[in-house]
Amino acid sequence: MGVSRVRRWGRGLVPAAGWRPAVGQPRGVAILGATGSVGRQALEVVARHPDRLVAVALAAGADSEGLAELARRYGARLLGLSRPGPAGAPAGPWRCASGPGALEAVATAEGVDVVVAATPGLAALRAVVAALAMGRVVALANKEVLVAGGELVARAARQGGGVLVPVDSEHVALHQCLRGERPEAVARVVLTASGGPFLRHDAQALARVRPEEALRHPRWQMGPLNTLNSATLMNKGFEVLEAQRLFGLRPEQVAVVVHPESLVHSLVELVDGTLLAQLGSTDMRLPVQYALLYPDRAPSLAAPLDLAAAGRLTFEPVRRQAFPSLSLAEAAGKMGGTAPAVLVAANEEAVAAFVAGRLPFPDIPRVVEDVLARTPRAAVETVEDVEAADAWARREARAALGGR
Ligand code: MG
Repeated sequence: MGVSRVRRWGRGLVPAAGWRPAVGQPRGVAILGATGSVGRQALEVVARHPDRLVAVALAAGADSEGLAELARRYGARLLGLSRPGPAGAPAGPWRCASGPGALEAVATAEGVDVVVAATPGLAALRAVVAALAMGRVVALANKEVLVAGGELVARAARQGGGVLVPVDSEHVALHQCLRGERPEAVARVVLTASGGPFLRHDAQALARVRPEEALRHPRWQMGPLNTLNSATLMNKGFEVLEAQRLFGLRPEQVAVVVHPESLVHSLVELVDGTLLAQLGSTDMRLPVQYALLYPDRAPSLAAPLDLAAAGRLTFEPVRRQAFPSLSLAEAAGKMGGTAPAVLVAANEEAVAAFVAGRLPFPDIPRVVEDVLARTPRAAVETVEDVEAADAWARREARAALGGR
Protein backbone atom coordinates (compact mmCIF):
# COMPACT_ATOMS: atom_id res chain seq x y z
CA MET A 1 0.00 0.00 0.00
CA GLY A 2 1.34 3.42 -0.92
CA VAL A 3 0.78 6.67 0.91
CA SER A 4 -2.60 8.03 -0.08
CA ARG A 5 -3.31 11.52 -1.36
CA VAL A 6 -6.44 12.15 0.66
CA ARG A 7 -6.76 15.84 1.49
CA ARG A 8 -6.56 15.98 5.26
CA TRP A 9 -6.67 18.91 7.62
CA GLY A 10 -3.07 19.71 8.59
CA ARG A 11 -1.25 16.71 10.04
CA GLY A 12 -4.51 15.23 11.23
CA LEU A 13 -6.69 12.31 10.15
CA VAL A 14 -9.86 14.24 9.33
CA PRO A 15 -10.72 15.48 5.85
CA ALA A 16 -9.88 19.04 4.80
CA ALA A 17 -12.40 21.40 3.22
CA GLY A 18 -13.12 20.38 -0.36
CA TRP A 19 -12.84 16.64 0.31
CA ARG A 20 -15.73 14.51 -0.88
CA PRO A 21 -16.10 10.79 -0.27
CA ALA A 22 -15.87 8.75 -3.47
CA VAL A 23 -19.15 6.97 -2.80
CA GLY A 24 -22.49 6.52 -4.49
CA GLN A 25 -25.92 7.75 -3.44
CA PRO A 26 -27.30 6.65 -1.09
CA ARG A 27 -24.22 6.02 1.07
CA GLY A 28 -24.03 2.50 2.48
CA VAL A 29 -23.75 2.68 6.26
CA ALA A 30 -22.39 -0.01 8.60
CA ILE A 31 -22.96 0.45 12.32
CA LEU A 32 -20.76 -1.29 14.87
CA GLY A 33 -22.61 -1.18 18.18
CA ALA A 34 -26.02 -0.80 16.51
CA THR A 35 -28.01 -1.77 19.61
CA GLY A 36 -26.33 0.84 21.83
CA SER A 37 -27.42 4.41 22.41
CA VAL A 38 -25.32 6.04 19.65
CA GLY A 39 -25.98 3.13 17.28
CA ARG A 40 -29.75 3.54 17.62
CA GLN A 41 -29.51 7.29 17.15
CA ALA A 42 -27.38 6.71 14.04
CA LEU A 43 -30.18 4.50 12.68
CA GLU A 44 -32.70 7.28 13.32
CA VAL A 45 -30.48 9.61 11.29
CA VAL A 46 -30.19 7.03 8.47
CA ALA A 47 -33.99 6.62 8.40
CA ARG A 48 -34.40 10.43 8.29
CA HIS A 49 -32.45 10.58 5.00
CA PRO A 50 -33.51 7.59 2.88
CA ASP A 51 -32.35 9.35 -0.29
CA ARG A 52 -28.81 9.85 1.09
CA LEU A 53 -28.19 6.97 3.53
CA VAL A 54 -28.98 3.27 3.67
CA ALA A 55 -28.29 0.85 6.54
CA VAL A 56 -26.35 -1.97 4.88
CA ALA A 57 -24.81 -3.80 7.82
CA LEU A 58 -25.35 -3.81 11.58
CA ALA A 59 -23.23 -5.35 14.31
CA ALA A 60 -23.63 -5.83 18.04
CA GLY A 61 -22.01 -7.75 20.86
CA ALA A 62 -24.42 -10.27 22.35
CA ASP A 63 -27.89 -8.73 21.88
CA SER A 64 -29.11 -11.07 19.14
CA GLU A 65 -32.80 -10.19 19.47
CA GLY A 66 -32.19 -6.46 19.58
CA LEU A 67 -30.02 -6.72 16.48
CA ALA A 68 -32.62 -8.76 14.57
CA GLU A 69 -35.33 -6.24 15.46
CA LEU A 70 -33.20 -3.35 14.14
CA ALA A 71 -32.37 -5.33 10.98
CA ARG A 72 -36.08 -5.87 10.32
CA ARG A 73 -36.96 -2.22 10.98
CA TYR A 74 -34.09 -0.71 8.96
CA GLY A 75 -33.67 -3.41 6.33
CA ALA A 76 -30.00 -4.33 6.82
CA ARG A 77 -28.87 -7.35 4.82
CA LEU A 78 -25.71 -8.20 6.77
CA LEU A 79 -25.52 -8.66 10.54
CA GLY A 80 -22.59 -9.27 12.85
CA LEU A 81 -22.74 -10.69 16.35
CA SER A 82 -19.35 -10.76 18.08
CA ARG A 83 -20.38 -12.71 21.21
CA PRO A 84 -23.27 -14.93 20.09
CA GLY A 85 -25.11 -16.71 22.89
CA PRO A 86 -26.31 -20.33 22.85
CA ALA A 87 -29.18 -19.36 20.52
CA GLY A 88 -26.60 -18.42 17.86
CA ALA A 89 -27.21 -16.03 15.00
CA PRO A 90 -30.71 -14.54 14.61
CA ALA A 91 -32.69 -16.08 11.75
CA GLY A 92 -34.11 -13.83 9.06
CA PRO A 93 -33.62 -12.50 5.53
CA TRP A 94 -29.97 -11.59 6.08
CA ARG A 95 -26.49 -13.04 6.31
CA CYS A 96 -24.99 -13.08 9.79
CA ALA A 97 -21.31 -13.18 10.71
CA SER A 98 -20.72 -14.32 14.25
CA GLY A 99 -17.76 -14.66 16.57
CA PRO A 100 -14.65 -12.55 17.17
CA GLY A 101 -14.31 -11.50 13.50
CA ALA A 102 -17.91 -10.29 13.16
CA LEU A 103 -17.22 -6.55 13.53
CA GLU A 104 -14.42 -6.69 10.99
CA ALA A 105 -16.64 -8.63 8.57
CA VAL A 106 -19.31 -5.93 8.85
CA ALA A 107 -16.86 -3.01 8.57
CA THR A 108 -15.23 -4.44 5.45
CA ALA A 109 -18.38 -5.79 3.77
CA GLU A 110 -19.18 -4.91 0.18
CA GLY A 111 -21.46 -1.93 -0.28
CA VAL A 112 -20.34 -0.20 2.91
CA ASP A 113 -19.14 3.38 2.41
CA VAL A 114 -19.23 4.75 5.95
CA VAL A 115 -18.53 2.75 9.12
CA VAL A 116 -19.99 4.09 12.36
CA ALA A 117 -17.85 2.81 15.25
CA ALA A 118 -20.02 3.00 18.37
CA THR A 119 -19.00 -0.10 20.31
CA PRO A 120 -17.54 0.12 23.82
CA GLY A 121 -13.86 -0.30 24.69
CA LEU A 122 -11.46 -1.77 22.16
CA ALA A 123 -14.03 -4.08 20.56
CA ALA A 124 -13.89 -2.22 17.23
CA LEU A 125 -10.11 -1.63 17.03
CA ARG A 126 -9.42 -4.30 14.40
CA ALA A 127 -12.54 -3.39 12.43
CA VAL A 128 -11.68 0.33 12.38
CA VAL A 129 -8.10 -0.36 11.31
CA ALA A 130 -9.31 -2.71 8.55
CA ALA A 131 -11.90 -0.22 7.24
CA LEU A 132 -9.37 2.64 7.16
CA ALA A 133 -6.83 0.41 5.43
CA MET A 134 -9.45 -0.13 2.69
CA GLY A 135 -9.86 3.63 2.28
CA ARG A 136 -13.26 3.83 3.94
CA VAL A 137 -14.78 6.66 5.93
CA VAL A 138 -15.02 5.89 9.64
CA ALA A 139 -17.42 7.94 11.75
CA LEU A 140 -15.83 7.47 15.12
CA ALA A 141 -18.09 7.59 18.17
CA ASN A 142 -15.85 5.38 20.29
CA LYS A 143 -13.02 7.11 22.14
CA GLU A 144 -10.99 4.15 23.37
CA VAL A 145 -10.08 2.95 19.89
CA LEU A 146 -8.41 6.26 19.03
CA VAL A 147 -6.91 6.86 22.49
CA ALA A 148 -5.43 3.38 22.98
CA GLY A 149 -4.86 2.44 19.35
CA GLY A 150 -4.08 5.89 17.95
CA GLU A 151 -0.77 4.83 16.32
CA LEU A 152 -2.40 1.95 14.49
CA VAL A 153 -5.44 3.94 13.45
CA ALA A 154 -3.28 6.77 12.11
CA ARG A 155 -1.03 4.39 10.17
CA ALA A 156 -3.96 2.50 8.63
CA ALA A 157 -5.62 5.75 7.54
CA ARG A 158 -2.44 7.21 6.02
CA GLN A 159 -1.49 4.01 4.21
CA GLY A 160 -4.94 2.96 3.06
CA GLY A 161 -6.46 6.36 2.34
CA GLY A 162 -9.27 6.12 4.89
CA VAL A 163 -10.48 9.17 6.77
CA LEU A 164 -11.94 9.66 10.21
CA VAL A 165 -14.91 11.92 10.68
CA PRO A 166 -15.65 12.65 14.34
CA VAL A 167 -19.00 11.92 15.97
CA ASP A 168 -18.13 13.09 19.47
CA SER A 169 -19.85 16.49 19.83
CA GLU A 170 -16.68 18.35 20.85
CA HIS A 171 -14.66 17.11 17.90
CA VAL A 172 -17.52 17.72 15.50
CA ALA A 173 -17.52 21.29 16.81
CA LEU A 174 -13.78 21.63 16.27
CA HIS A 175 -13.98 20.13 12.80
CA GLN A 176 -16.63 22.67 11.82
CA CYS A 177 -14.65 25.60 13.26
CA LEU A 178 -11.46 24.41 11.52
CA ARG A 179 -13.06 23.83 8.11
CA GLY A 180 -12.23 27.25 6.77
CA GLU A 181 -8.88 27.70 8.52
CA ARG A 182 -5.32 26.74 7.64
CA PRO A 183 -3.31 24.93 10.35
CA GLU A 184 -0.87 27.88 10.62
CA ALA A 185 -3.78 30.14 11.56
CA VAL A 186 -4.77 28.01 14.55
CA ALA A 187 -3.23 28.79 17.95
CA ARG A 188 -5.11 26.14 19.88
CA VAL A 189 -8.45 24.44 20.32
CA VAL A 190 -10.58 24.64 23.47
CA LEU A 191 -12.73 21.66 24.42
CA THR A 192 -15.74 22.44 26.57
CA ALA A 193 -16.57 20.18 29.52
CA SER A 194 -19.93 20.09 31.27
CA GLY A 195 -18.00 19.46 34.49
CA GLY A 196 -20.21 16.47 35.30
CA PRO A 197 -22.57 16.10 38.26
CA PHE A 198 -19.91 16.97 40.90
CA LEU A 199 -18.69 20.23 39.42
CA ARG A 200 -19.12 22.10 42.74
CA HIS A 201 -18.19 19.26 45.13
CA ASP A 202 -15.27 19.87 47.51
CA ALA A 203 -12.86 17.06 48.45
CA GLN A 204 -15.07 15.87 51.33
CA ALA A 205 -18.20 15.76 49.18
CA LEU A 206 -16.30 13.91 46.40
CA ALA A 207 -15.21 11.27 48.94
CA ARG A 208 -18.87 10.60 49.77
CA VAL A 209 -20.12 10.26 46.17
CA ARG A 210 -22.16 7.08 45.63
CA PRO A 211 -22.29 5.14 42.33
CA GLU A 212 -25.96 5.96 41.68
CA GLU A 213 -25.22 9.71 41.89
CA ALA A 214 -22.27 9.38 39.52
CA LEU A 215 -24.41 7.52 37.00
CA ARG A 216 -26.70 10.51 36.49
CA HIS A 217 -25.30 12.92 33.90
CA PRO A 218 -26.86 16.40 33.83
CA ARG A 219 -26.72 16.97 30.03
CA TRP A 220 -26.20 13.92 27.86
CA GLN A 221 -27.82 10.49 27.84
CA MET A 222 -24.96 7.97 27.70
CA GLY A 223 -23.89 4.50 28.82
CA PRO A 224 -22.67 3.93 32.42
CA LEU A 225 -18.90 3.94 31.73
CA ASN A 226 -19.09 7.14 29.67
CA THR A 227 -21.28 8.75 32.32
CA LEU A 228 -18.77 7.93 35.04
CA ASN A 229 -15.88 9.08 32.89
CA SER A 230 -17.72 12.39 32.53
CA ALA A 231 -18.03 12.62 36.32
CA THR A 232 -14.26 12.11 36.83
CA LEU A 233 -13.34 14.19 33.71
CA MET A 234 -11.46 11.16 32.33
CA ASN A 235 -13.86 11.46 29.41
CA LYS A 236 -12.46 14.94 28.74
CA GLY A 237 -8.94 13.57 29.06
CA PHE A 238 -9.72 10.99 26.36
CA GLU A 239 -11.16 13.78 24.22
CA VAL A 240 -7.95 15.82 24.59
CA LEU A 241 -5.94 12.88 23.23
CA GLU A 242 -8.52 12.31 20.49
CA ALA A 243 -8.27 15.97 19.45
CA GLN A 244 -4.48 15.73 19.21
CA ARG A 245 -4.79 12.72 16.90
CA LEU A 246 -7.75 13.83 14.81
CA PHE A 247 -6.38 17.30 14.06
CA GLY A 248 -2.64 16.63 14.37
CA LEU A 249 -2.20 19.12 17.23
CA ARG A 250 0.60 19.35 19.78
CA PRO A 251 -0.36 18.68 23.42
CA GLU A 252 -0.08 22.37 24.36
CA GLN A 253 -2.55 23.24 21.59
CA VAL A 254 -5.49 21.48 23.27
CA ALA A 255 -7.09 23.26 26.23
CA VAL A 256 -10.23 22.56 28.28
CA VAL A 257 -12.76 24.96 29.80
CA VAL A 258 -15.76 24.08 31.95
CA HIS A 259 -19.08 25.10 30.39
CA PRO A 260 -21.95 23.60 32.40
CA GLU A 261 -24.70 24.42 29.86
CA SER A 262 -22.99 22.26 27.17
CA LEU A 263 -24.37 24.44 24.37
CA VAL A 264 -21.01 25.65 23.06
CA HIS A 265 -19.63 22.30 21.94
CA SER A 266 -16.01 23.51 21.60
CA LEU A 267 -13.97 26.43 20.27
CA VAL A 268 -10.97 27.22 18.10
CA GLU A 269 -8.59 30.05 18.97
CA LEU A 270 -6.81 31.58 15.99
CA VAL A 271 -3.37 33.21 16.11
CA ASP A 272 -4.92 36.70 16.03
CA GLY A 273 -6.93 35.95 19.19
CA THR A 274 -10.24 35.31 17.41
CA LEU A 275 -12.38 32.59 18.98
CA LEU A 276 -14.65 30.49 16.78
CA ALA A 277 -17.33 28.46 18.55
CA GLN A 278 -19.94 25.94 17.44
CA LEU A 279 -23.29 25.87 19.22
CA GLY A 280 -26.23 23.51 19.01
CA SER A 281 -28.77 21.70 21.15
CA THR A 282 -27.47 18.73 23.19
CA ASP A 283 -28.87 16.09 20.83
CA MET A 284 -26.40 13.41 19.66
CA ARG A 285 -28.34 12.99 16.43
CA LEU A 286 -26.91 16.29 15.21
CA PRO A 287 -23.19 15.32 15.42
CA VAL A 288 -24.06 11.83 14.13
CA GLN A 289 -25.74 13.37 11.09
CA TYR A 290 -22.76 15.68 10.54
CA ALA A 291 -20.48 12.65 10.32
CA LEU A 292 -22.78 10.57 8.12
CA LEU A 293 -23.56 13.28 5.58
CA TYR A 294 -20.23 15.12 5.64
CA PRO A 295 -19.54 17.44 3.85
CA ASP A 296 -23.23 17.88 2.98
CA ARG A 297 -25.88 19.51 5.15
CA ALA A 298 -29.57 18.68 5.48
CA PRO A 299 -32.41 19.33 7.95
CA SER A 300 -31.96 17.19 11.07
CA LEU A 301 -33.97 15.58 13.86
CA ALA A 302 -32.43 17.95 16.40
CA ALA A 303 -34.39 21.04 17.43
CA PRO A 304 -32.57 24.29 16.61
CA LEU A 305 -30.99 25.98 19.62
CA ASP A 306 -33.03 28.90 21.01
CA LEU A 307 -30.39 31.13 22.60
CA ALA A 308 -32.89 33.45 24.27
CA ALA A 309 -34.58 30.44 25.89
CA ALA A 310 -31.18 29.01 26.89
CA GLY A 311 -30.48 32.33 28.62
CA ARG A 312 -26.99 32.23 30.02
CA LEU A 313 -23.75 30.66 28.84
CA THR A 314 -21.12 30.36 31.57
CA PHE A 315 -17.47 29.29 31.56
CA GLU A 316 -14.98 28.55 34.31
CA PRO A 317 -11.57 26.89 34.70
CA VAL A 318 -11.22 23.15 35.33
CA ARG A 319 -10.44 22.26 38.97
CA ARG A 320 -7.59 19.97 38.08
CA GLN A 321 -6.73 19.07 41.67
CA ALA A 322 -10.26 17.89 42.39
CA PHE A 323 -10.44 16.05 39.04
CA PRO A 324 -6.91 14.69 38.39
CA SER A 325 -8.05 12.28 35.66
CA LEU A 326 -7.75 15.03 33.05
CA SER A 327 -4.06 15.63 33.82
CA LEU A 328 -3.43 11.88 34.00
CA ALA A 329 -4.77 11.46 30.48
CA GLU A 330 -2.59 14.31 29.22
CA ALA A 331 0.44 12.73 30.90
CA ALA A 332 -0.31 9.36 29.29
CA GLY A 333 -0.54 11.09 25.91
CA LYS A 334 2.91 12.62 26.40
CA MET A 335 4.35 9.25 27.50
CA GLY A 336 3.04 7.79 24.23
CA GLY A 337 3.55 4.15 23.19
CA THR A 338 1.30 1.85 25.16
CA ALA A 339 0.66 4.37 27.98
CA PRO A 340 -2.71 5.59 26.59
CA ALA A 341 -3.89 1.97 26.30
CA VAL A 342 -2.85 1.42 29.92
CA LEU A 343 -4.72 4.57 30.94
CA VAL A 344 -7.93 3.35 29.31
CA ALA A 345 -7.80 -0.15 30.79
CA ALA A 346 -6.72 0.83 34.31
CA ASN A 347 -9.45 3.46 34.40
CA GLU A 348 -12.09 0.96 33.33
CA GLU A 349 -11.06 -1.44 36.11
CA ALA A 350 -11.10 1.35 38.71
CA VAL A 351 -14.51 2.56 37.54
CA ALA A 352 -15.88 -0.99 37.76
CA ALA A 353 -14.61 -1.23 41.34
CA PHE A 354 -16.28 2.10 42.19
CA VAL A 355 -19.59 1.06 40.59
CA ALA A 356 -19.44 -2.19 42.62
CA GLY A 357 -19.08 -0.11 45.79
CA ARG A 358 -15.50 -1.32 46.38
CA LEU A 359 -13.62 1.95 45.74
CA PRO A 360 -14.26 5.55 46.85
CA PHE A 361 -14.80 8.01 43.99
CA PRO A 362 -11.53 9.98 44.55
CA ASP A 363 -9.54 6.72 44.41
CA ILE A 364 -10.46 6.07 40.77
CA PRO A 365 -7.67 8.37 39.47
CA ARG A 366 -5.31 7.16 42.22
CA VAL A 367 -5.51 3.59 40.89
CA VAL A 368 -4.95 4.86 37.34
CA GLU A 369 -1.97 6.98 38.40
CA ASP A 370 -0.44 4.05 40.24
CA VAL A 371 -0.69 1.72 37.25
CA LEU A 372 0.45 4.40 34.80
CA ALA A 373 3.56 5.07 36.89
CA ARG A 374 4.60 1.43 36.48
CA THR A 375 3.91 1.23 32.73
CA PRO A 376 6.87 -0.25 30.89
CA ARG A 377 7.89 1.96 27.93
CA ALA A 378 6.80 0.10 24.81
CA ALA A 379 5.90 1.10 21.26
CA VAL A 380 2.63 0.18 19.56
CA GLU A 381 3.25 -1.72 16.33
CA THR A 382 0.32 -4.14 16.18
CA VAL A 383 -3.18 -4.67 17.53
CA GLU A 384 -1.65 -7.36 19.76
CA ASP A 385 0.61 -4.73 21.39
CA VAL A 386 -2.48 -2.72 22.35
CA GLU A 387 -4.29 -5.81 23.61
CA ALA A 388 -1.24 -6.90 25.65
CA ALA A 389 -0.96 -3.44 27.25
CA ASP A 390 -4.70 -3.57 28.00
CA ALA A 391 -4.42 -6.98 29.66
CA TRP A 392 -1.30 -5.92 31.64
CA ALA A 393 -3.02 -2.77 32.91
CA ARG A 394 -6.11 -4.70 34.00
CA ARG A 395 -4.00 -7.20 35.94
CA GLU A 396 -2.02 -4.38 37.58
CA ALA A 397 -5.17 -2.43 38.43
CA ARG A 398 -6.83 -5.49 39.98
CA ALA A 399 -3.69 -6.14 42.01
CA ALA A 400 -3.67 -2.50 43.13
CA LEU A 401 -7.33 -2.84 44.09
CA GLY A 402 -6.29 -5.83 46.19
CA GLY A 403 -8.98 -7.34 48.32
CA ARG A 404 -11.39 -4.44 47.72
MG1 MG B 1 -17.96 14.37 24.14
